[in-house]
Amino acid sequence: MKALLVSACLLGCDCKYSGGNNALPDDTLAALRREYRLIPVCPEVAGGLPTPRIPAERLCGRVVTRDGRDVSAPFARGAQVALALARKYGCEKALLKERSPSCGSAVVYDGSFTGTLIPGMGLTAETLREAGVEVFSEETIGIMKTE
Ligand code: SF4
Repeated sequence: MKALLVSACLLGCDCKYSGGNNALPDDTLAALRREYRLIPVCPEVAGGLPTPRIPAERLCGRVVTRDGRDVSAPFARGAQVALALARKYGCEKALLKERSPSCGSAVVYDGSFTGTLIPGMGLTAETLREAGVEVFSEETIGIMKTE
């Protein structure tokens, strides 16, 4: 059975900045579990950030919190933890939460904290893709399953 790296919040872990999660529907989770060995990771927690935490967005190559703190270093640490897990378990694919400054793979918030989305990737998604891991989101999960 192949291993799939997955955003922990999609699996129901309460690691979201707000303290909640982004759990996928039960039938989706069950289908994933039948097909893959799921490897959960929350890059932001793995990088040393607390939960709940002040929301952050990517901005000009950095990651900053809503109150102006530069959290690029913990985000980069978390991305490296995710990459190390992908390598350890031989994950060729990752299923990551869209729009997150760590896990987003197609769109992210623009750094203005106004809810504005722009094309782009979170730091972990970017790191994994550069390393050759195929990154999907809950919005492209249908494509992932047919590959
Ligand atoms: Fe979910 Fe990724 Fe945010 Fe962690 S960093 S809460 S796994 S979207």
